[in-house]
Amino acid sequence: MARYTGSVCRLCRREGMKLFLKGSRCYSKKCAFERRPTPPGQHGVRRRKVGEYGLQLREKQKVRRVYAVLERQFKNYFDAAESRPGVTGENLLRLLELRLDNIVFRMGFAPSRAASRQLVNHGHFAVNGRPSNIASHQLRPGDRVEVRATRTAREPFKLAKETLRSHQPPDWLSVDPAKLAGTIVDQPRRDQMPLDLNEQLVVEYYSR
Ligand code: SF4
Repeated sequence: MARYTGSVCRLCRREGMKLFLKGSRCYSKKCAFERRPTPPGQHGVRRRKVGEYGLQLREKQKVRRVYAVLERQFKNYFDAAESRPGVTGENLLRLLELRLDNIVFRMGFAPSRAASRQLVNHGHFAVNGRPSNIASHQLRPGDRVEVRATRTAREPFKLAKETLRSHQPPDWLSVDPAKLAGTIVDQPRRDQMPLDLNEQLVVEYYSR
């Protein structure tokens, strides 16, 4: 699966907000956005008028970048969200939240979505007892995610066992740090998805 390989801090500067793409670095003084909160490029500091379309586009890009999903796949998520009953914007975020790489991140097995995607790609996780190395694997309430028994002694999981003790997963997930496993208890509601994003603008972007 293709992925963005450029500087991720540049994306935060472009969107004018911290997207928390780098784990612990995002909470330190080394955060590039803290040091230089202007858009990247030679003309980054120039003030520009942003119209309605610009706002919608930027919001769509923000959501896409938070979950590290490329354009075509993101549009597929939008189409799936639109075809479901309920509020399209919330459906969209829910579909993205229920990706395996995001669940691994939310459960606290990895410090960022990028790190969790790498762990998933390397085949360290099993879903309902069966190995899965597909980051976009769509999960459902009741599904159990665990570190495969043969991988628990690996370095990232020794570390995770420590950090999981203080990690507070969202209400819709339950995590057993001792077993390096977790379960999806329920579908996430919008108020349980702590995201500073306006998904309605994304809906408007695709409804033009
Ligand atoms: Fe964004 Fe994190 Fe880089 Fe800061 S350190 S600019 S929050 S990715």
